[in-house]
Amino acid sequence: MTEELNPFKIAQQQLDEAAKILKLDPATHALLREPMRELHVTFPVRMDDGSVRIFKGFRVQYNDARGPTKGGIRFHPDETIDTVRALAAWMTWKTAVVDIPLGGGKGGVICNPKEMSQAELERLSRGYIRALAHYIGPETDIPAPDVYTNPQIMAWMMDEYSIITGYNVPGVITGKPLPLGGSAGRGDATAKGGMYCIREAAKVLGIDLTQATVAIQGYGNAGQFAHKLITSMFGSKVVAVSDSRGGIYDPKGLDFEAVVAHKEKTGAVKGFPGAKEITNEELLELEVTLLIPAALENQIGAWNAGNIKARILAELANGPTTPDADEVLFNNGVFVIPDFLCNAGGVTVSYFEQVQNAYDYYWTAEEVYERLDQKMTAAFHAVHEMAKKYGVHNRTAAYLVSVSRVAEACKLRGWV
Ligand code: NAD
Repeated sequence: MTEELNPFKIAQQQLDEAAKILKLDPATHALLREPMRELHVTFPVRMDDGSVRIFKGFRVQYNDARGPTKGGIRFHPDETIDTVRALAAWMTWKTAVVDIPLGGGKGGVICNPKEMSQAELERLSRGYIRALAHYIGPETDIPAPDVYTNPQIMAWMMDEYSIITGYNVPGVITGKPLPLGGSAGRGDATAKGGMYCIREAAKVLGIDLTQATVAIQGYGNAGQFAHKLITSMFGSKVVAVSDSRGGIYDPKGLDFEAVVAHKEKTGAVKGFPGAKEITNEELLELEVTLLIPAALENQIGAWNAGNIKARILAELANGPTTPDADEVLFNNGVFVIPDFLCNAGGVTVSYFEQVQNAYDYYWTAEEVYERLDQKMTAAFHAVHEMAKKYGVHNRTAAYLVSVSRVAEACKLRGWV
């Protein structure tokens, strides 16, 4: 049998496993298996050469039992509705595992931002928000950045929404630049949250992080900050990193500032002086203490899970590991910090950003990190305790924590 790689089918499979263990009633299970609402939009964008191109976008509001839906927007040429559905489902479990009063959503536009000018990207961002404006808002659904979207894009989107509304609405979107109501600490929040989980995992496993070696797949927001933070917070040695054009390896360690400068100059990590070039596949199978996938889905499957040698797999990316791979990793003693726990720092600080926007009063970076640490540490241990109680791997344990919280909210509302 070939392995299922449709991310939404995988998300449903993962939920089914948790539902069985929790003995979830059939109505709640059926409700949680599907998005509550989804919007498909087609909208025109004027290109720089004067032509008009038609783009397709999606917004999925998966479940809002615990609060307004929340989740990022991706600009990607391979975007599909099933990827957005899966990511919206994972957002639902993510906001629940860190226990913030939000539901899960996600958005995407099929486009290739690498081939578009800044002016075209701005018109695309504004066009997408015009198409969604009546379906999002600080009390209903709050987008944020994700793959190939950034604070500038969030600023254009917030501005477009504010123009339509007629007054300034910073709370409609998070991940904004600081002068427009962004939160201190949002830039590196995803990686920072992952670091707090890694710190707790190392304590549980008795691993000395000062002696740890690290490989990171993906060198964007999550991957670059992971490189910076794992070195500065724990003194671990990053020996390999990669991006969509390939990877580099140096057993002596890769200097963060130098690799970033090289990528900024050349557009890729490849060709970094003194490092050996490796493929993304080779990077995953390196003999390291910590492996951090920080790119896209389906990187570790039945085909390579048996070759993973890392002691801890800290998933900053969403959906990097398939269910078949989970079994293999569990049996081989690889400690997985599952995606919707490991990368929940981003949405947690996004939630802090919303709170600050609502109060119009802003916290220091130290206050943000302290609150983030509390949330992530509590979530990590809730999942770890659940894994011990049921003798299951951490992903199923994280589902048990989240699904029971969302199911309880559905029940209390009288939906099921
Ligand atoms: P990004 O766009 O900043 O970076 C993505 C990186 O992945 C780029 O370096 C790109 O070159 C690389 N990449 C793309 N395809 C690749 C491939 N096939 N092999 C290796 N590398 C590849 O995106 P990001 O925000 O860093 O997001 C990365 C992952 O983290 C995604 O799964 C995203 O959903 C997840 N995530 C991000 C945040 C956040 O706050 N940024 C929050 C939660 C989860």
